[in-house]
Amino acid sequence: MADRLGRPLRDLRISVTDRCNFRCTYCMPKEIFGKDHPFLPHASLLTFEEITRIARLFITHGVQKIRLTGGEPLLRKNIEVLIEQLAALRTLEGKPLDLTLTTNGSILARKAKALKAAGLRRVTVSLDGMDDAVFRSMNDVDFPVADVLAGIEAARLAGLGPIKVNMVVKRGTNEQEILPMARHFRGTGVVLRFIEYMDVGATNGWRMDEVLPSSEVIKLLRTELPLVPLDPTAPGETAERWGYADASGRHDPRLGEIGVISSVTRAFCGSCNRARLSTEGRLFLCLFASQGYDLRALLRGEATDEAIASAIGRIWQGRSDRYSELRSTMPAGSTGGARHIEMSYIGG
Ligand code: SF4
Repeated sequence: MADRLGRPLRDLRISVTDRCNFRCTYCMPKEIFGKDHPFLPHASLLTFEEITRIARLFITHGVQKIRLTGGEPLLRKNIEVLIEQLAALRTLEGKPLDLTLTTNGSILARKAKALKAAGLRRVTVSLDGMDDAVFRSMNDVDFPVADVLAGIEAARLAGLGPIKVNMVVKRGTNEQEILPMARHFRGTGVVLRFIEYMDVGATNGWRMDEVLPSSEVIKLLRTELPLVPLDPTAPGETAERWGYADASGRHDPRLGEIGVISSVTRAFCGSCNRARLSTEGRLFLCLFASQGYDLRALLRGEATDEAIASAIGRIWQGRSDRYSELRSTMPAGSTGGARHIEMSYIGG
């Protein structure tokens, strides 16, 4: 099954909570998501059983990878129970799902072992700098780098790898952290990815002149660390891979690799095989969508599995989203008139 641009459905991102204990300025600015912000009541969240049922139906359309997101997914109580349920599912080929999770790492040190035991395969941790002052200002809740690093180490010891670390690069805020981050993770087995600052949601005050293109990130890294381009590992991979090279100029796997995710300057919509499910069961077909499809009503109504599966199929087949490709054709600062859904609601 493919959408209107011939893209298969392979990757499902499930937001399990709209809450977070950070207030990253590019995602959940404190001014908007203050202490009186009306987060979703628990009753409106999909239950673990509903999430597992819907995941099983997405698998019938070819989904092979499920990423749990949020908000901060580790804030969802007993998430290990959900992970156990999802880990028991099998793809159409009879294989285990590529079950992963994106976290800010704040409580990972406490949870890593239990997540692994429940069946989680690997984790991606967000960290925007090594300098404590810079990181604390970006997460805007004064959270220290050391505790996130402790979470990454606990995940490594628990076998939740290969671990990926995502750094959002915002020009004028943290580009001076690019080399320190690379120096810290090079040769550790952790794959560091640099993400171009994006106009996600409608509240982060995004400006194009605060985007540091990935080409400049690579140029900066190469002033100190030799890099060679690597081939993608899977269709639809968002990151461009670069391997650390040895003195002969060849990739040295012991030194590892980095990635750049260039949604703004090198859009990858052409191979985008991702769907997103919000915390309350709305299906979104693009990170920059403004509307979603209510699957919860089907789950909580009389609809059979077949009926829900065919609804998902129809929705995907009607998909033609490619916002990042179109962004550059829009007037500066315009989003084409649509108000993007918040990233903290549908997950990154
Ligand atoms: S902008 Fe939308 S369609 Fe393009 S890669 Fe991102 S999520 Fe996919």
